[in-house]
Amino acid sequence: MSKRISVHDCQRIVIKVGSSLLVENSGINQAWLATLASDIRTLISGGTQILLVSSGAIALGHRLLNLPNRPLQLDENQAAAAVGQIELGKAWSEALCSYSLVPAQILLTVNDTEGWSGRRSYLNTRNTIERLLSLRSVPVINENDTVATSKIRYGDNDRLAARIATMISADLLILLSDIDGLYTEPPTNNPDARLIEIINDITPEIVRMAGSAKSDLSRGGMVTKIEAAKIATRAGISMIISSGKRRFPIRSIDEGQPATWFLTNQSTSRTSARKIWISGQLETKGGLTVDQGAVRALENGKSLLPTGVIDIEGSFSRGDIIAIYASNGVRIAQGLAGYDSRSAKLIMGYKSEELSQILGLGYEGRNEIVHRDNLVLTLST
Ligand code: GLU
Repeated sequence: MSKRISVHDCQRIVIKVGSSLLVENSGINQAWLATLASDIRTLISGGTQILLVSSGAIALGHRLLNLPNRPLQLDENQAAAAVGQIELGKAWSEALCSYSLVPAQILLTVNDTEGWSGRRSYLNTRNTIERLLSLRSVPVINENDTVATSKIRYGDNDRLAARIATMISADLLILLSDIDGLYTEPPTNNPDARLIEIINDITPEIVRMAGSAKSDLSRGGMVTKIEAAKIATRAGISMIISSGKRRFPIRSIDEGQPATWFLTNQSTSRTSARKIWISGQLETKGGLTVDQGAVRALENGKSLLPTGVIDIEGSFSRGDIIAIYASNGVRIAQGLAGYDSRSAKLIMGYKSEELSQILGLGYEGRNEIVHRDNLVLTLST
């Protein structure tokens, strides 16, 4: 059964801290940060490993460089991140060191965790993080905004934190934000809006609620928090959205402060490491639209065969991540392409026994356009 867990019972927790909590007009909110560091010290003393994903570089750099109050251009943002990241690292270093903790800074680009070509970097990053944790250090992670281009970036730390959580098989992801959690409607618009305390299933209704909600100053708002919840729960990791505005924000969660919990059923979510990796991939190279029969087959745990494919978009190679859509346009799965897009277009709609001839192989080809071992359902129709 899915159930709420005590934060203190977890072995590994990723905590994402939003910019609006850390940075105020006068700079870093050090008094608050000290209470978070104290919570982290308590958890680590109890045997829990903690990883931090911290935003705030751009907000700090913006302040320090006296940049104007308008949307910044890419190079201005990157300059702000370069200046702000040093300040952010300093703040974490001071806060954690005063509790005798040893912080480690890790700046990642999307290439380090996404795509088949990033698999080596992914494994390397994971090894380094594992080693840091075994050395009792506290990794403080952010996107390397200074080198990320607008196209190749996570763009928000909610999903980055979820990717880190899946990468190192955390038990829990906590997104500290400036709102208590997901409300049925934006509470600023409707005083009767209700906080949803427990979510066992991320239904289209939940996604709709998030779409209308504005959250903190971070890039993501509520939409990317729900995306993060999908990535985490699919990998068997529970997630909490909670307001970090209180002092001792982690202790407050165990004391029962309002929050939204996304629960996961660990026993049924025990997918292989490869499937967890596939399900966490944010970028897809293309998409396949499939018929009703194929949707049913996928829901029953079968592979996707060419005969069920009715449309193909994008240009992808074998091994690239591709999305799978039902004929009504709903995205239902993602997986690794068994064929490149050119061959896939040739064989789509054909039966398995016809493939070899169509492709002129002279031997029996692969039957599956996406093999079930390389496929993860993301939403049922
Ligand atoms: N990486 C950005 C920063 O440190 C924050 C991204 C986000 O707010 O999610 O400023």
